[in-house]
Amino acid sequence: MWKAEITADTEGAGASQTFFRLWAPHRMNTNGRELMATDLSSWPGLGNPREILTKVDSADEPILATLALPRRVDKARIVYGTIAPGLVLEIGESLEEDEEFIAALLREFLITLAAVTMLGGPIGWFMARRALRGVQEVTRTATEIANGALDRRVDVRSQGDELDTLARTFNTMVDRMQALVIGMREMTDNLAHDLRSPLGRIRASAELSLTSGGSKAEAEAMAATTTEECDRLLEMINTALDIAEAESGAAKLKLTDIDLVELVGDALELFQAIAEDQQITITADLPDHFRIHGDRQRLQRVVANLLDNGLKYMSAVGRVTIKLVTEGERVTLSIEDTGIGISADESARIFERFYRCDRSRSKLGNGLGLSLALAFVRAHGGDIIVNSTPGQGSTFTVVLPRLSIGSINRLSDESTRENRGPSGRAAA
Ligand code: ADP
Repeated sequence: MWKAEITADTEGAGASQTFFRLWAPHRMNTNGRELMATDLSSWPGLGNPREILTKVDSADEPILATLALPRRVDKARIVYGTIAPGLVLEIGESLEEDEEFIAALLREFLITLAAVTMLGGPIGWFMARRALRGVQEVTRTATEIANGALDRRVDVRSQGDELDTLARTFNTMVDRMQALVIGMREMTDNLAHDLRSPLGRIRASAELSLTSGGSKAEAEAMAATTTEECDRLLEMINTALDIAEAESGAAKLKLTDIDLVELVGDALELFQAIAEDQQITITADLPDHFRIHGDRQRLQRVVANLLDNGLKYMSAVGRVTIKLVTEGERVTLSIEDTGIGISADESARIFERFYRCDRSRSKLGNGLGLSLALAFVRAHGGDIIVNSTPGQGSTFTVVLPRLSIGSINRLSDESTRENRGPSGRAAA
């Protein structure tokens, strides 16, 4: 019955695709006896699998083998199994379909590989070129800048990629560099300009003492003038250096616990006599004490500069009012005067080094006092704000954080990093 079924199955699949043979394997290493077989005309050279039959007979599991037959291009997959004591069934199947499938797969794979290689090359080249174009643009701009064209910038294409970030960072760096170079240029120009007049006076005075052959008193007067001019020059140079040091973050604050009210009180005492001479009333609205961590000497110079300006830029009899108000974790010190005032345009520039408003040129000064005050206050993590109305007066407000020593150091670092360069903030 089963023989008929197997024969029918085999014939259904095609005699060239499958075959079966039924064996009665002989023990004692002799050839097995073929009991029956399907049409083997398509399977030449199958032969008698004597060794396998011997093994299968004693094995628990079927044995699999792959055979290459001499006159077939495809291989045959064969399974041998004991189906009853002394009966081994051999079923073979052509691997032609599998081989065709693998060949087709390989073909598809090779075609895809070729397509990817052909397309990948140009796409990769295009992408690399695009990326390089951006880098080349940065390199070209950097070269132009190195050759002196400080106003050159890289075009930002706004595509949100790494090249845009590179271009923006590069432009910010050049902006900063340009601001520093302009600041330095202005500073040296101004310094040279401001050095010329006193040096001229010193030279004229020395020349006069040489040629006039005057009295001892005249010589002493000339020496005194020379000393005075030299002191003024030295003060200007030292102040410019102090500002540069504070703005670059190189100045180390000497932080101690100080009473700000006492510090302001000392400054008021010093300026009281000058104020009385000028018929200026100074009024102060201060709490009893207010302690902060700060650099005493530098904060003294801030208060002195602002007070000095308040008195100096007074057109006639007037009033200077000092207030110290604490607001949570910060303190606000305001110095208000009823002086000549500052226009909105000029307010935006008064913190620049050497800047002096036109109307105040008749007064003694070098235009460095406010730059120094702002640099010192920023080193403490604070700021100075100016409010002014021409002809009515000005209020300079110093805002300082009431912080621990550690946080002042941190803020001071951040503030100098952010605010380096000649700048001020005006809220006119
Ligand atoms: P200086 O007083 O030596 O000129 P500053 O840096 O202190 O330099 O001030 C810069 C300029 O700002 C001054 O020359 C003056 O024109 C203006 N200024 C400063 N403070 C006042 C003030 N309280 N009232 C009017 N103008 C002022």
